[in-house]
Amino acid sequence: MASADKNALAMDAKILIVEDEAGLVTALRDRLRKEGYTVSVAKDGLQGLELATQERFDLILLDLMLPGQSGLTVCQKLRHEGSNTPILMLTARRQTMDKVVGLRTGADDYLTKPFKMAELLARIDALLRRAARVAEKEKKNEGHDFGKVHVDLRRTEVTREGRPVQLSAKEFQLLRYFIEHRGTTLSRETLLHEVWGYEATPSTRTVDVHVAWLRQKLEEDAKNPQLIHTVVGLGYKFAE
Ligand code: CA
Repeated sequence: MASADKNALAMDAKILIVEDEAGLVTALRDRLRKEGYTVSVAKDGLQGLELATQERFDLILLDLMLPGQSGLTVCQKLRHEGSNTPILMLTARRQTMDKVVGLRTGADDYLTKPFKMAELLARIDALLRRAARVAEKEKKNEGHDFGKVHVDLRRTEVTREGRPVQLSAKEFQLLRYFIEHRGTTLSRETLLHEVWGYEATPSTRTVDVHVAWLRQKLEEDAKNPQLIHTVVGLGYKFAE
C-alpha cells in the first residue's frame, strides 16, 4: 500500500485504548500517536464504556482483564447498544477460551499478549480499512433527496413529501439507473438495454412510457419536469 494512502487513513482515525497496565498504555499511546492516530485512554472497563458511548471512535483496543468490568462485558454492552466500532481485543496468553468467547461477543479481532507492535499496527490498519470499506458501501446505498422526493435505493422505497410512492419494479429499476447515472444524458437505446436487458421489446417507446409514469409519480408538474429532463434528439438526463 502507498504510504500516503496509509497516512490519510491514520490521520483522522480516533483510537480508544482500554487497558489497566500503565506501562503498556504508555507504550501503546506513544506509538499510536507517532503513527498519526488520535488516542484516548480509559483505565478500566466502566471508564472505557463511558468514553466509547460518549465519543465516536474508529477503533477500540480493549483489554480483556480489566478492573471494574471485564473487556468482554464492555464489548457486549457496546454491541448491545448498537455500536459497530471495530474492537481489537487484547488477551493474555492463557485465555484461549476467552478469545473465542470474545469474538462471539462481537470483537472483530484479538491479539495475544505479549505482542509485537508491528503486528498490532498491521491489525489496526486492517480493521480500519475494512471499516472504511463498509462505510463507503453504506454511503453508496444510502438515501437520495431530490427536492421533495426521497429515494432509498437499499430499501427500494420512494417517498414524496413524506408520503410513500408506489413504483412498479421496472419503474424503480429505471429510477435507480437514472440516479446512478445522474447528470449523464442517456439514450433510449442505452436505457432499454441497461434496464430492460434481454427482455427488451423492440420499441424504445417502452422507455418513454415508463419515463412518463415516473414523472407523473415524482414530478410536481409532469409537463415541466425538474428531475427527469428530456434531451431533445438524444434521450433523458436525470437532475444532478
Ligand atoms: Ca489487564
